[in-house]
Amino acid sequence: MERAVRVRFAPSPTGPLHIGGLRTALYNYLFARKHNGTFVLRIEDTDQTRFVPEAEAYILESLKWCGIMPDEGQSVGGEFGPYRQSERKPLYRQYADQLLENGYAYYAFDTPEELEAMRDRLTEAKSSSTQYDAVNRKDMRNSLTLSADETQKLLDEGAPYVIRFKMPDSEIIEMQDIIRGDIKVNTATLDDKVLFKSDGMPTYHLANIVDDHLMEISHVIRGEEWLPSMPLHVMLYHAFGWDDTMPEFAHLPLLLKPNGNGKLSKRDGDKLGFPVFPLRWPMDSAKEEIASGYRESGYYHDAVVNMLALLGWNPGTEQEIFTLEQLVQAFSLERVGKSGSKFDPEKAKWFNHHYLVNRTDEEIAEQFGVELQERGIDVSRETLVHITGLVKERVNFVKELWDQTYFFFEAPTEYDPKVVKKRWKEGVPEMMTTLKGILEGIEEFTSEKTEEVVKSWISENELNMGLVMNAFRLCIVGAGKGPHLFDIIAVIGKEETLARLQRGVDTIVR
Ligand code: GLU
Repeated sequence: MERAVRVRFAPSPTGPLHIGGLRTALYNYLFARKHNGTFVLRIEDTDQTRFVPEAEAYILESLKWCGIMPDEGQSVGGEFGPYRQSERKPLYRQYADQLLENGYAYYAFDTPEELEAMRDRLTEAKSSSTQYDAVNRKDMRNSLTLSADETQKLLDEGAPYVIRFKMPDSEIIEMQDIIRGDIKVNTATLDDKVLFKSDGMPTYHLANIVDDHLMEISHVIRGEEWLPSMPLHVMLYHAFGWDDTMPEFAHLPLLLKPNGNGKLSKRDGDKLGFPVFPLRWPMDSAKEEIASGYRESGYYHDAVVNMLALLGWNPGTEQEIFTLEQLVQAFSLERVGKSGSKFDPEKAKWFNHHYLVNRTDEEIAEQFGVELQERGIDVSRETLVHITGLVKERVNFVKELWDQTYFFFEAPTEYDPKVVKKRWKEGVPEMMTTLKGILEGIEEFTSEKTEEVVKSWISENELNMGLVMNAFRLCIVGAGKGPHLFDIIAVIGKEETLARLQRGVDTIVR
């Protein structure tokens, strides 16, 4: 029988979720949806020293914003809970004990000083390995070197200890990764990782394997930084006798800095001028912002999802624009590349532009209306929707609309000196005065009508079209930009148009 697809996103709540982490969540979500499976959110909070209380809420809010909510998790429930590892604490010890009993793990009593002395000694001796491994464990204080009585005595005395995995001396581990193919590793290169800590908590490795097993995870889809842990994880499945239900693995390529030099890190964010987090951190806007987020920077969630999906995966066609539903249909782990994907902030803007242009004028106008209200500008909904439609092609973000539309709401108070120099030629003020008279005579002050009349006046008098129109624009807008000029004057109306022309004639000096 085909195995039910169950995948998990298993972040550690140590701070805000990086977009690389969000991409991992997205790929898990897409894979689950595609295969009618289940997407689990598990919070891996066993490392109490790195725990950040707001991080879990941040992770959830990020997933919610992107529309990729888990099917199972602490906040949504499910049969395999609890989904927070700190709440599963009592169950891990028995698994560590099972490994101890079967000889796959051992107690290690070495103090931090002894461990440091070991590393110093091995470094000095130019030893090929300074790790706590199959060779070096022989010189340390553990239940493999001490007698059973000595070990028991230390345990009875309450001496601090950790439980380490007993990595075989020299064995070839053969593994399969959906993205990377066959992988072979010699255990001689691996150390005896700590599975259980002296504080009574399991380490990531133990808790992660036990939970993946108990939660019946079928596929582990995670970042490449976990690839070095895969041999240990596979060995743990063998040691527990869980080979039959071992999940398949897929390690996703890294997200790289825009210049391709190294991994895109949490610290790169505002340093390089673009967010690396989905939401601002901290989320509480009353607190000082430490890092900016895509949401607050004006990105649409569907643009971010689309962009992230293509950072590492490709559909095998030229198609770049995908809705979440289309991504679900098209996604496959086989089309995830092996090499790192360079993050491209310009492409992120390009996606946002696309998603903005494809939103209705009404929706954008509604967002823009909030800013206008803050600016104390009163405009009818109908006019605002119309203006939005005229300029939306020119912006990537709603926050850029003001700069493309202010002249609809207020007359220019200054004139761009470069444009003045170039366009306010001799004879132009007189021409504008004549133009004013012509416009004054138009009853039906629509874009089409004014355009028709002004253009016939220009051609009948053999005037220079560029000269007239650029000077006209300068009077109306105060600069050389903006949408179709006749559309602008139709919105501001006849009276305002004539007043701006007069003001231009009176005040623009070359
Ligand atoms: N807790 C790990 C992390 O923070 C999970 C890695 C995994 O998916 O196995 O990314």
